[in-house]
Amino acid sequence: MRIDLHTHSAASDGTLPPSRLLEAAVQARLDVIAITDHDTTAGWDTVREAVPDDIALVPGIEFSCQWTGAAPPISLHLLGYFIDPTYPPLVAELERLRQARTERGRRTVELLRADGIDITWDEVARIAAGAPVGRPHIGAALVRRGLVSTMDEAFAPHWLGERYRIPKADTDVFVALDLIHRAGGVTVFAHPAASRRGRIVPDQAIVELAAAGLTGLEVDHPDHTPEQRAHVRDLARALGLVVTGGSDFHGTHKTVPLGAELTAVEEYERLLAAR
Ligand code: AMP
Ligand code: FE
Ligand code: FE
Ligand code: ZN
Repeated sequence: MRIDLHTHSAASDGTLPPSRLLEAAVQARLDVIAITDHDTTAGWDTVREAVPDDIALVPGIEFSCQWTGAAPPISLHLLGYFIDPTYPPLVAELERLRQARTERGRRTVELLRADGIDITWDEVARIAAGAPVGRPHIGAALVRRGLVSTMDEAFAPHWLGERYRIPKADTDVFVALDLIHRAGGVTVFAHPAASRRGRIVPDQAIVELAAAGLTGLEVDHPDHTPEQRAHVRDLARALGLVVTGGSDFHGTHKTVPLGAELTAVEEYERLLAAR
């Protein structure tokens, strides 16, 4: 079984529309694919009646969160699977997150323009096409203008990686955990040890999340080194958490292919059983 539990469609910052993502998943010989867009369920909500016969769709989300045990707070991503997308408190919080993304996107463009970098909010909004605005949409505008040559370069420290990175007002991770569980979902901490993406939370935070009902840890992720994978795997075993893997596919916004990282079938079954 080939099970990829972390992918993005054009409903957030991936480049393939959800239906094309499902076709790509069949081509990549996946048996199970989770669509986990940032702060929206719009992607899988539109295609779940039209899933190809040879593949199973796991409805998911990647929730933008923060852990306030450090100053300033550390941002982290919580994957939620099998949630009811109509649960009102969840709908309201996701709407708030998406609005915060729009405001931050506008401010990021203003910051760039103040330095004489000629991209416009209209361009970025056109690229996002209604999806929650993320730095990849701004990066794509920079690439189109020839201001950088690759998306990786757009994320360099002197661009969106640091210089033009504005923090977002994300959801407290314990609040998000509770919202997802109340919406009938299960939770997996995405790329918990990926220090190359920024600050990571201490193990104690993961212990506290496990006590609050966290279901799993994403061990196999492209941004984890072999040492980080080993560490997170040991932590999952010690805490009795499910071990998952996923490619974090973003279409042409990233270079990692679908199915590059997978979840073992026994672990997938544990996730299903935890619903
Ligand atoms: P945001 O959510 O707006 O802060 O943007 C973060 C997103 O940018 C994440 O979803 C990452 O997948 C993406 N990202 C981070 N680094 C890179 C990179 N080097 N190349 C392409 N995408 C990236
Ligand atoms: Fe992303
Ligand atoms: Fe993430
Ligand atoms: Zn992701």
